[in-house]
Amino acid sequence: MEKIYGNENLLCRLSRLRKNKRLPHSVIFYGERGCGKKLFADYYTMLLLCEKPKDGRPCGECVPCRRVGEKNHPDVIYAQTSGKLAGYSVKTAREIRSDAFIKPNNNSGKKIYQFRDCRNMDTRTQNVLLKIIEEPPEYAYFIFTAESEYEFLPTVLSRCTALAVSPCKDEDSENALRQYNFEDNDIKEAVDCFHGNIGMCIQYITDVHLRSQVIIIKNAVDSIIRRDEYGLVKTLFSAGTDRAEVRKVLSMLDCSMRDCAVLSRDKKARTIGSFRNGTLHLSEILTGSQAIEIHNLIEVACSALQSNISPVLAVSALSAEIMSVID
Ligand SMILES: [Zn+2]
Repeated sequence: MEKIYGNENLLCRLSRLRKNKRLPHSVIFYGERGCGKKLFADYYTMLLLCEKPKDGRPCGECVPCRRVGEKNHPDVIYAQTSGKLAGYSVKTAREIRSDAFIKPNNNSGKKIYQFRDCRNMDTRTQNVLLKIIEEPPEYAYFIFTAESEYEFLPTVLSRCTALAVSPCKDEDSENALRQYNFEDNDIKEAVDCFHGNIGMCIQYITDVHLRSQVIIIKNAVDSIIRRDEYGLVKTLFSAGTDRAEVRKVLSMLDCSMRDCAVLSRDKKARTIGSFRNGTLHLSEILTGSQAIEIHNLIEVACSALQSNISPVLAVSALSAEIMSVID
């Protein structure tokens, strides 16, 4: 079983629920990308299936635990995404709903459905699922993971137990990364950028593409600090012309703006962006409300990109607007 770092409160809460045999039928694990939500989805699944739990925790060694870890437990169903946006279709939801009403004929006596990485989930899909999570059969469990609990309709959310997964401390993150035998230099750089978000740290070390995106963000923040519109346009252009890629970079820049707004009030606040030092510097130049204004502009640019505006146009307009906010 993969070790879970941090999240002590969440682990305690789950142990208590397991010991009292009150594990909810529908749960949502939510938190930023890379912080371990899928790890928790599997942990929860093990909690439901483990044959020898110790103190409300899965043993990690019995056959069901091992099979969950290997993702080949027959009573665990991973809902499949489809389409360009890798979403859950109405058809998939209907199939799962029908399947969930068929009593299990297996050892565990349970059926566990995992919906991983829920984002922009169709309202119709959610309404189909709502029918089953409102009154689930006693053997059926539904586990969702998403970056935000607000990915779900209020009606769905009210039927689920939403559990926040958080990044761990920087030193825990370093310890976790050492287990993978990464170079010390890489670990230091990764933790400087992504702190206790172990998933993002691993991606930073192993994915050259993410590294190049982090450099774009650093240059973008520097350009804003220097009030250099040309520099900002140029660095954002280097993200390319693929809409999804440009949006990814803009959402990383947005994290830095969120950090900037928080840091302008409290210099010691926890940050989620990839460039704390630069953002700290930026927070001395921008007021919190300016940072929020820029955040709003980035959101507008992202939705423009979604509705077929050319990335070149969106990025140029955004850069000019950012400069007008700070002038
Ligand atoms: Zn076990």
